[in-house]
Amino acid sequence: MNSLIERDRASLWHPYAPASPALPLWEVEAADGVALRLRDEQGRTHEVLDAMSSWWSVIHGYRNPIMDAAIQRQLSNFSHVMFGGLTHQPAVALAETLLDMAPGKSGRRLERVFLADSGSISVEVALKLAVQFQTANGRPKRQRFLTIRGGYHGDTFAAMGVCDPVDGMHSTFPGLLAGNVFAPRPPAAAKATPDTIQEWQAAVEDLSRLHSNELAAIIVEPMLQGAGGMFMYPAECVRILRDIADHHGLLLILDEVATGFGRTGELFASHHSGVVPDILCVGKALTGGYLTLAATLCTAEVARRVSASEAGALLHGPTFMGNPLACAAANASLGILATGAWRGDVARVGAGLAAGLAPAVKLDAVADVRTFGAVGVIELRDAVEVAKVTRAAVERGVWIRPFRNLIYAMPPYISSTDQVDVMATAMVAAVEVASTQRIAA
Ligand SMILES: *Cc1c(COP(=O)(O)O)cnc(C)c1O
Repeated sequence: MNSLIERDRASLWHPYAPASPALPLWEVEAADGVALRLRDEQGRTHEVLDAMSSWWSVIHGYRNPIMDAAIQRQLSNFSHVMFGGLTHQPAVALAETLLDMAPGKSGRRLERVFLADSGSISVEVALKLAVQFQTANGRPKRQRFLTIRGGYHGDTFAAMGVCDPVDGMHSTFPGLLAGNVFAPRPPAAAKATPDTIQEWQAAVEDLSRLHSNELAAIIVEPMLQGAGGMFMYPAECVRILRDIADHHGLLLILDEVATGFGRTGELFASHHSGVVPDILCVGKALTGGYLTLAATLCTAEVARRVSASEAGALLHGPTFMGNPLACAAANASLGILATGAWRGDVARVGAGLAAGLAPAVKLDAVADVRTFGAVGVIELRDAVEVAKVTRAAVERGVWIRPFRNLIYAMPPYISSTDQVDVMATAMVAAVEVASTQRIAA
């Protein structure tokens, strides 16, 4: 009988991986709180702290009793019904809570929710809404999008089309990705000056003017680009994008799939800037990492125009739209956030990461160390040797998943100061091990 990992290698794909990847694979035997019990290919078990929150999502930890109970309650009632012509309490409650939490209380406000099944789909819906809005306004030629370089918005085709054109997948699908407009990346938060911000603003304004007749919307991740490079930029730049969008009649779409629900120290990253988007995408931590669910929020104005258009409807409707179990998980997660404890938790985790990662600055292999909210990043000068770094961290009791030249953490909010210290120490040690081994080799 082959081991589970061998059977996996014979039958499954993993994210962004070849069939039968050469990289090591770990079997998860149990998960509880911040801890995972992993089994490696030699059959050894490792107790590790999950510094990744399973890709930003498990903010309240594994087997959270409140989350577990909420899903079990819904399960004993019903687990799924179609959303065409039917509705249910978990979906309505979720929409009301999301609108209540979202940026914008007076003036521009988000007043309508589309429940999508993943972050990528929430972006598809946002892009569709923007094009349908422009068409409804008599501007059917406005079918392209302006974004900044270095972004990541998902893996479906329209979403891929607004991902970074170099690091994204544009070269692999040249005939399938829309020709969008890419502005430069804003200056880095730590180094930005009024001059560099102004220079960037001028470049974005030029591009917007040049293409305004064919642009439907601007789409960005506010202040923190996640999978596109864990890159942080000033709140001022989000305000500039809001002004440019308004000036040219473009919608502003903020993709907070990664940054939403407290991760950056505010409930949404857009709160740091005071900017209210026309369309907001949320996902990842929405269900506390329990089930897949995302949402696209829009203003009453966008909803009204699209509904009154010739099409007469927002043209999207997934089979599992508004899945009740996922909505129940989201309601439970938002209920935990409503206690407000997350604010102190995120501050504690962030302070722990800042202190614990600081020693990495002096390592030769390290180009930059940065933190924002409960996100900590070590940027290396060269590409990370993923297998070596991951193994070194696991041996020190921590699960991380580096990419490109980035070793980063966004721990569950429930992580204690000691646990964050273990995570940061392991990350720094993993960098040292990987760079020493390279010198030795
Ligand atoms: C992860 C992510 C997405 C895509 O979400 P999926 O649930 O993986 O489809 C979109 N936008 C941002 C900013 C993300 O971080």
